[in-house]
Amino acid sequence: MKQDYYEILGVSKNASASEIKKAYRKKAIQFHPDKNPDDKKAEANFKKAAEAYEILGNEEKRSKYDQYGHAAFEGGQGFGGGSMNMDDIFSQFGDIFGSAFGGGGFGSGGFGGGQRRSQGSNMRIRVKLTLEEIAKGVEKKIKVPRKVQAPGVQYGTCSVCNGAGQVMKITNTILGRMQTSAVCSSCNGSGQNLLNRPPGSDANGMIKREETVSIKIPAGVEEGMQLKVSGKGNEAPANGISGDLLVLIEELPHEVFVRESNHLHYDLYVSISEASLGVSKELNLLDGKARIKLEPGIQSGKTLRLRGKGLSTVNGYGTGDLLVHVNVWTPKKLNKEQYQFFEKMLEDPNFIPKPEKSDKSFFEKVKDMFA
Ligand SMILES: [Zn+2]
Repeated sequence: MKQDYYEILGVSKNASASEIKKAYRKKAIQFHPDKNPDDKKAEANFKKAAEAYEILGNEEKRSKYDQYGHAAFEGGQGFGGGSMNMDDIFSQFGDIFGSAFGGGGFGSGGFGGGQRRSQGSNMRIRVKLTLEEIAKGVEKKIKVPRKVQAPGVQYGTCSVCNGAGQVMKITNTILGRMQTSAVCSSCNGSGQNLLNRPPGSDANGMIKREETVSIKIPAGVEEGMQLKVSGKGNEAPANGISGDLLVLIEELPHEVFVRESNHLHYDLYVSISEASLGVSKELNLLDGKARIKLEPGIQSGKTLRLRGKGLSTVNGYGTGDLLVHVNVWTPKKLNKEQYQFFEKMLEDPNFIPKPEKSDKSFFEKVKDMFA
């Protein structure tokens, strides 16, 4: 029995598209092969989540799934039972992972026919960021153990293929002589061979060296996003092309603010006196300060929205809001004078709750919806 896609992502049947995307991103990070090297179970979970997202992340496929269940994708469509490979997943969900992963060693990653320049493999690292760093954007200097050409290494034109990367083969068949071309096995198609191999280097003349890479992280990035630093992955031998450095963003939880996409939530506590008389408060934001004015008689549970005081979006397209949730703090102990004051107010009609529509609690609002 195939597991329900909603169950796999841990969302309800009426989850919004952004909730589904978020849930998938979370699963993808949890079971990411980087985090779980050689863990077959994690890999299976990673694939399952990708399969579920492939369906639920697409409006049309999702509605088919809602109607017919797994049967909607049997017989050629979909994945045929999670047969997707990792490369497919990474390339398919580029919006979540950034560019495709992969890349090979010496001589791979070619350009079809002719000589193929060797391609260094991509490297993946994770970077943990505080909400403060995310709010402003940050430049991180990270030590990366890159594969680089060893000092003193020399490459030269392959003598087998004369640098063409290909060799011609002539075979006698019943139809006559046939000429076919094949990748040169001496240089793997790169047209270059190692002339001298410095001590300590591998068969391609490469060594591992820790290098500091500076990574500019724009404001507004989110958990699970991936940035690409071109050419800062592993170097390739000879005149090959360096791979990319892929930076996976991890977001550290914040003590005060809770993030919801690009909005921030903040719990503000005020005294009964402040709530009754009105008050102006200065808030320490992630980057700078903001002043907020509470009208006299503000109710506990009220949410005030400060537009544009949230996080900016990565593409610079707008800024989120700061949602300030007002909580009125009740003193746990009163002195005699205070006690007498509040006791007197028990009889005062002005102190008897008379909630207006806008003051209603969440529960009251839900009740109204069904009335
Ligand atoms: Zn060759």
